[in-house]
Amino acid sequence: MSGYITVPYVIAYANELLQDPIQFEPHAHELRLAYSQCRRSDWVHGILRARVRDLRDRPGKRGPERMRKLNTRRQWRCMDKLLCQVCGKPATDLETGHIPWLLTETVFDATSEDSGRTNAPPTCWNCIAYAREECPMLQNDAALHIVTSAVSVGVLADLYEPGVFSEQPVLARHNVFVAWDAHRYHASALATSQVVELHGMTPVP
Ligand SMILES: [Zn+2]
Repeated sequence: MSGYITVPYVIAYANELLQDPIQFEPHAHELRLAYSQCRRSDWVHGILRARVRDLRDRPGKRGPERMRKLNTRRQWRCMDKLLCQVCGKPATDLETGHIPWLLTETVFDATSEDSGRTNAPPTCWNCIAYAREECPMLQNDAALHIVTSAVSVGVLADLYEPGVFSEQPVLARHNVFVAWDAHRYHASALATSQVVELHGMTPVP
């Protein structure tokens, strides 16, 4: 029997991942990416968001965890409400108002000496020890920071182009940052996670 590990809140389970077909459709004199059976709730600020189910509270239905995949909806909720990526509870330190944030180089782009963008949600103080022990991705090069604020700046997305020989959209670029004001990329983007910019970052030794 493998040792018991807690599955982090942001991690997806097999049956949450959906493969609903996407296509380009005419919209406001251009083509935009859409799910074949589209719903208004598919878009966030004009960008199509990847559909997933949220079955975390239904152990009998959710299937095995997929440790390398994020559940887009739970990741989004973590960023909107600054919830811990491991336990899903508020991550902000109530005494100081600061937010602890564990970051690896692969999920962080510095924008100044004490700010930068990431799609990794915060980690509450209670979960930091756990995260360092249990998460393979955090063991090597994770650096702990405290952060004074986090502002939503855009998404990580896959960018598609219309297919030349079929209706099937073609993946052009994987996992690129698309800012909320980079409107010319919005119609071809499928967002898989929300990106925030962290401010007032201080490293914790
Ligand atoms: Zn936590």
